[in-house]
Amino acid sequence: MVVTGSQNVTRILLIGGGHTHVVALRRLASMKPAGLDIHLVSPEPSTSYSGLLPGHIAGHWPRTDLEIPLAPLCHPSGTTLHTTRAISLDPSARIAGLDDGRELAFEYASLDIGAIAAVDAPDGLVSVGVPVKPLGPFADQWSAFVSSVEAGANPPCAAVIGAGTAGVELALSMKHRLDKLDLTARPKVALIERGEVLLPDGNASMRRQLEKELNRACVTVYKGEPVVDADETLVRLASGESVPARFVALATGARPQSWLAGTGLALNDGFVSVSPTLQSISHPHIFACGDTAHLTFSPRPKAGVFAVRQGAVLAEQIGRLAANRALSEYHPQTDYLKLVSLGRRRAIAEKWGVSLNLPGMWSLKRHIDFDFMKDN
Ligand SMILES: Cc1cc2nc3c(=O)[nH]c(=O)nc-3n(C[C@H](O)[C@H](O)[C@H](O)COP(=O)(O)OP(=O)(O)OC[C@H]3O[C@@H](n4cnc5c(N)ncnc54)[C@H](O)[C@@H]3O)c2cc1C
Repeated sequence: MVVTGSQNVTRILLIGGGHTHVVALRRLASMKPAGLDIHLVSPEPSTSYSGLLPGHIAGHWPRTDLEIPLAPLCHPSGTTLHTTRAISLDPSARIAGLDDGRELAFEYASLDIGAIAAVDAPDGLVSVGVPVKPLGPFADQWSAFVSSVEAGANPPCAAVIGAGTAGVELALSMKHRLDKLDLTARPKVALIERGEVLLPDGNASMRRQLEKELNRACVTVYKGEPVVDADETLVRLASGESVPARFVALATGARPQSWLAGTGLALNDGFVSVSPTLQSISHPHIFACGDTAHLTFSPRPKAGVFAVRQGAVLAEQIGRLAANRALSEYHPQTDYLKLVSLGRRRAIAEKWGVSLNLPGMWSLKRHIDFDFMKDN
């Protein structure tokens, strides 16, 4: 059944409760543009905030602290929440297919469905590894593993595959959590990278400081070591070494959701190509933002900080559509403050190639992240 809107209102369909749509909904609550019928499609009733994930994995705060409930966000702008997944989009017919069998018609749609963990890995690793995205299920599986270690059902051995920023943060956080358990066996965490360096996209100063931290926390680092196989007890490396691991996190990069390829939208490496107005370059009535978007005019790394900034831009565009005004342009910042948590209550900050490991950086990170959550 195709659910259509009434003739006097413009139906906007927000697909995905990612960081951009969260911020856009907050803005729309105060803007209250007239003549809009807004719908949000999300597989879960809440969405997880990535900035707080490492601290939760390290045991500093509960799972509930990561969650942004979507219903209270939708309510003030009169947005209808559909708790299901979008599985298809026909931009020409202006219809989205949902996992519960329904189809939703729209005039404009916006895609903010994030990215999923790239699993370009041997079959054994794919079957035992836990992708870091989506964040919620990853957090749940980590908690289940920690409980099994506490109950003596598993030894405290874990591995993280992929040493980008997220992989390093998670390895340090996992080690911190296991170290805090009252165990007789010594916890072991391995960080395994197939490239020759950690943080392939990071700067040298940050890399040096994080290597020091990994060493300090006794995380075993393997570089230039592709994984060739894995099972429930260990990860096998190309060099022939076996690394014991009962929990394997896959932090192997971001890839787009496969169903985007069937939409007919112009894509770049599977991500939706957008212009400075965040409109698809092939279908202007479709917006894309956050990790889902490829910014053709100024490509940027997949980071929450860009997704968050785009929220205000998207709300502004929706307001302009409602008022029949020309859309504005988005210009992403060239650099941004990166705050990388170190497992223990410390963080390293980096901007403009300078990185600082000072006690106040953890408080700064916590303040920024909890401040973001406070607005829910
Ligand atoms: C461990 C870790 C730590 C990180 N820390 C930072 C950090 O400190 N700073 C930073 O800038 N970035 C960080 N990132 C990157 C950051 O998580 C992403 O860039 C950010 O989440 C992207 O936001 P988004 O809006 O694109 O989508 P997401 O926040 O990924 O949300 C996508 C949403 O879409 C929903 N969805 C998915 N598929 C569908 C579908 N088919 N239909 C409907 N809904 C769907 C999902 O349920 C989810 O709610 C981190 C990533 C990881 C893995």
